Amino acid sequence: MKNTIISVKDLVKNYGEFKAVKGISFEVFEGEIFGLLGPNGAGKSTTLEIIETLRPKTSGEVIVDGYNLDKSPGGIKKIIGVQLQSSGFYPGLNLLQLVDLFCGLYNKKMDPMELLDMVNLKEKAKAKVKELSGGQKQRFSVATTLINDPKIIFLDEPTTGLDPQARRNLWELIKQIRERGTTVIITTHYMDEAEYLCDRVAIIDGGEIIKLDTPDQLIDNLIASGFERKKEMKLANLEDVFISLTGRSLRDS
Ligand code: ADP
Ligand code: MG
Repeated sequence: MKNTIISVKDLVKNYGEFKAVKGISFEVFEGEIFGLLGPNGAGKSTTLEIIETLRPKTSGEVIVDGYNLDKSPGGIKKIIGVQLQSSGFYPGLNLLQLVDLFCGLYNKKMDPMELLDMVNLKEKAKAKVKELSGGQKQRFSVATTLINDPKIIFLDEPTTGLDPQARRNLWELIKQIRERGTTVIITTHYMDEAEYLCDRVAIIDGGEIIKLDTPDQLIDNLIASGFERKKEMKLANLEDVFISLTGRSLRDS
């Protein structure tokens, strides 16, 4: 059976008078890719950052791998990997030095080159973050989430702003990470991405979860309710055209 690795109950976050998260509850299963989908301002980042122990909640209960957020935030920190914005990296250091630094911070021994190789950045080992393309930056920041060998990683809009090749490349990396047994929570407002990657998704809007299910079930439910697409679907879309013309290979190195 599926084990629950994250349990969120009646989570509320108010910023002053403003209610950003209005009492949401959900569970994430061990080993799945769980998506939080919603438009800008829905409360996705707030929810993630509370679970990551980076932002205080107003009320509610959060349990991560048996650790209660109120009692053992330190326990949670040890088993999670959080993606930093690339602006958060020391600008003077190259990728190899940054990975070394993180290994020291987490007291982990690992081969930095092996990690860079996993995210296809071996050739960029001596480059600084500001010298990387958007896709490379994102791959590097995903790589840094893996340094403490986390049970769960959190990715907040990891593909926003990437070109289609870099997006697909990052999707494969995320799948690879899940195949190693890591649970992944991802936020996105790209539905094709959620459909491709996520085992289950919660659709969140205005601080509330409106629906939570597998992408397949959500689509089947909509069809069963009598929904039909207005326009007849062609067998390909413009993104297919773009990918077939420009190929799948990465252009960022
Ligand atoms: P999302 O990640 O889904 O785009 P956020 O969680 O960042 O949404 O934000 C949810 C709502 O809370 C937004 O309306 C946002 O403006 C507001 N908000 C986020 N952070 C703060 C803050 N530090 N102070 C006040 N309001 C905030
Ligand atoms: Mg956000």
